[in-house]
Amino acid sequence: MAKRDYYEVLGVPRDADAKSLKSAYRRLARQHHPDRNPDDPNAEAAFKEAAEAYQVLCDPEKRATYDRYGHAGLESHGFAVDPSDIFGGLQDILGDFFGGFRRQRADAPTRGADVRTTVTIELADTVEGTTREIDLRHASPCGDCQGTGAAHGEMDRCGRCNGMGRLAVRRGAFVVQVDCPDCQGRGQRAKASCQECEGTGQTIIDRRVRVEIPGGVDHGDTLRVRDEGQEGTRGGPPGHLLVDIRVAQHPHYTRDGDDLVFPLHLSFPQAALGAKLAAPPIRADGEPYEVVAPAGIQPGETLVIAGEGPPRRRGRGRGDLVCVVQVDVPKDLSPKARELIEKLAQSFQG
Ligand SMILES: [Zn+2]
Ligand SMILES: [Zn+2]
Repeated sequence: MAKRDYYEVLGVPRDADAKSLKSAYRRLARQHHPDRNPDDPNAEAAFKEAAEAYQVLCDPEKRATYDRYGHAGLESHGFAVDPSDIFGGLQDILGDFFGGFRRQRADAPTRGADVRTTVTIELADTVEGTTREIDLRHASPCGDCQGTGAAHGEMDRCGRCNGMGRLAVRRGAFVVQVDCPDCQGRGQRAKASCQECEGTGQTIIDRRVRVEIPGGVDHGDTLRVRDEGQEGTRGGPPGHLLVDIRVAQHPHYTRDGDDLVFPLHLSFPQAALGAKLAAPPIRADGEPYEVVAPAGIQPGETLVIAGEGPPRRRGRGRGDLVCVVQVDVPKDLSPKARELIEKLAQSFQG
């Protein structure tokens, strides 16, 4: 593929000054940066193309050669662009570029991190709601140093990243941004380590939280308990506690939307003649529900015990218990039973 004109690549006029070249390049670099387009090979190519164009045009000598002789002229004058060195001399501008993504200032109030936990409840709890005491063990910012890890919170600007918190490092032909390993992206380093947390900025805390689990919750839901996450630092608000709900399997019932469904087994005579049956209780120690199957009920028909399910997730009231009729066909017949069924069969033919 023919190389595109460098001015066209950057979208600038041929007499563009250094400032407009730089801003055009920064705009393109931001748009196509591999960090932002991890799965897009076109972005990678566009990023390289812009970097190459900028590398040539920001150098007065190379630019003059290119203006006069074009791409071929650069090569014949020894200015061939080495793709592996495409970011040579661009560190300054990339530094600025990454600066645009800098994290919050190290001394700004910071909201605490969310804490996540999982709670397993019984199906009956989804009907009635429940309260759980949850034991949590999690990291939290050290109160002595406000999470900085620095004794008395005293910090110096990090020398390695010059306070940016980020470094541009080469990965193959690319420059990508990474957290500065010396300051973990904070841009600042402790003058001396905090004694309380040994400079980690964090302490492990154990605490117990009381969580109200409302009726109607379902397996896979996440409850957010406000302000029960990690403490914020420097006056920032706390994070939240996220509770992932698991619902233990019930021996009889399964959830279907707002309803609880279970198979109601009837013998053939019960189905034919009608019967009073008991549906199992949801809570193990509860009372069974009385269900009346009318004569002639068919397999797959449902009997509904209204309003005994969990509270509806949308709208008012409660879901139902839905009994799905199954008619059991006997397998091992006694001689007597066999005789009776044969008589029955004859009566059907008659
Ligand atoms: Zn640093
Ligand atoms: Zn500390």
